[in-house]
Amino acid sequence: MLQVKNLSGGYSDINILRNVSFSVSRGEMFGILGPNGSGKSTLLKMISRVLSIKHGEIMIDGRSLQQYSSKKLARLLAVLPQVTSEVFPFTVKETVELGRYAHQRGLFQTWSPKDEAVVQEVMTLTKIKEFQGVSLQELSGGERQRAFLAQALAQEPDILLLDEPTNHLDLSHQKGLLDQLKRWTRQRGLTVVTVFHDLNLASLYCDRLLLLNEGEVVCLGTPENV
Ligand code: ATP
Ligand code: MG
Repeated sequence: MLQVKNLSGGYSDINILRNVSFSVSRGEMFGILGPNGSGKSTLLKMISRVLSIKHGEIMIDGRSLQQYSSKKLARLLAVLPQVTSEVFPFTVKETVELGRYAHQRGLFQTWSPKDEAVVQEVMTLTKIKEFQGVSLQELSGGERQRAFLAQALAQEPDILLLDEPTNHLDLSHQKGLLDQLKRWTRQRGLTVVTVFHDLNLASLYCDRLLLLNEGEVVCLGTPENV
């Protein structure tokens, strides 16, 4: 459902990614690994259309990324960036509710008990519920990251793009959260494309892994084969 074909591109005239190709099936948990600066975040930014493509193509459900309206794309994709904004003038619960509004395609008038239930469920899953009335500015980096993860989940997108979703957490919290994340996304058949730093951790959770080095694919396969 997500196809990346011979993709090249980066920032203005600097090419970071070079001839990157892979495809991700619906419901798959797909991990992207590689050293600092290898282009992992750049790749997620290209899939979410933050950066434009120089060469090659990205397709979702057989249609080129360029063909989607911004509204449709916002419904299809949810993104958790590697660094989350410190200046976000909302409480945790409001932040998560914004994700749910995106799920409803902006139909603000139809806030249902189901929407409220999803908001509560994702706050529980990301262990952020106790902070629900707190402003994001007053949270630690790890707490804020979990609030934005809850926002992305509340969106229930077809494809979740996560850039090192647990990089602020210690190992036991990382595993707890990844267990929950996998259960939750599997139940809904969501596709997850997630950047990891740790190969062992990625191998535990991902169906397949892509290894990048200096913007090129060096390995693509199941954790046993990588
Ligand atoms: P990390 O593990 O540190 O997060 P990464 O694999 O996500 O690394 P990217 O953020 O994709 O790496 O960066 C790839 C390359 O692009 C790096 O060499 C970086 O310096 C460069 N780069 C990143 N952002 C910009 C930018 N806004 N303008 C120009 N170059 C950039
Ligand atoms: Mg990065």
